Amino acid sequence: MASMSITERPKRGVPEGLWVRCPSCKATVFKKDVEANLNVCPECDHHFYTSARDRIRQLLDDASFEEWDTDLAPVDALGFVDRIPYAQRIAEEQAKTGMTDAAVTGKGFIRGRPVVLGITDFAFMAGSMGSVVGEKLTRAVERATAQRLPVIFVSGSGGGARMQEGILSLMQMAKVSAALARHDSAGGLYVCVLTNPTMGGVAASWALQGDITLAEPKAMIGFAGARTIANTIRLELPDGFQTSEFLLAHGFVDRIVHRRDLRTEVARLIDYCDMK
Ligand SMILES: [Zn+2]
Repeated sequence: MASMSITERPKRGVPEGLWVRCPSCKATVFKKDVEANLNVCPECDHHFYTSARDRIRQLLDDASFEEWDTDLAPVDALGFVDRIPYAQRIAEEQAKTGMTDAAVTGKGFIRGRPVVLGITDFAFMAGSMGSVVGEKLTRAVERATAQRLPVIFVSGSGGGARMQEGILSLMQMAKVSAALARHDSAGGLYVCVLTNPTMGGVAASWALQGDITLAEPKAMIGFAGARTIANTIRLELPDGFQTSEFLLAHGFVDRIVHRRDLRTEVARLIDYCDMK
């Protein structure tokens, strides 16, 4: 590594996309090195965005994932138009991400332990929860309850509830929560992993309802944005109050786990809770 000065600024003529600038330590690092390091900065451990597909590879045993409900796709039930019509936005997001909506759910194995896994991906409309995300997560929980499997959800939802689906997106908060409550009553385990960012209606429902709440380092986690809160309550807010570290210190997060340790940590928790 020392011979290759990866912190050097890219030279002119270097193809774009080969290098990435770390927003935390400002180093310019070779993108391949970041990718080989689970999308974590090799210089300072900053956790970059990771897609749902990559997370499945990082968390589950090789080729063990069986995806569920791939046929569920969003519709523009309200005829909603913001900057562009919602129907057009859906089509663009689908083309951009190759996903039908922001959640991927299914069954797989973590170090040999069967689990139900659900992941929301920031790349698709900021990971916001509309009807499809809510329905997929709800079905995943219900199947986990029926099959007596642990639920592992990973939130990459910075968008909260999806405003383009109005009340239909808000009711997903109650729907997923009700399924998780039934899972809990049946003695099921639910571990939630909070990643950067987890905000709004997702933080206000399933993301903070885990029996155990893990978070990646320095993830932004909260309900409303800092400026909105400051304007509402007219008080000065503590520095970094919407971070994993602050929430750990104040009891909202149980443990901060480096991405490279997540698989082992979740497997250990499953064993500890005897939910094999
Ligand atoms: Zn860095």
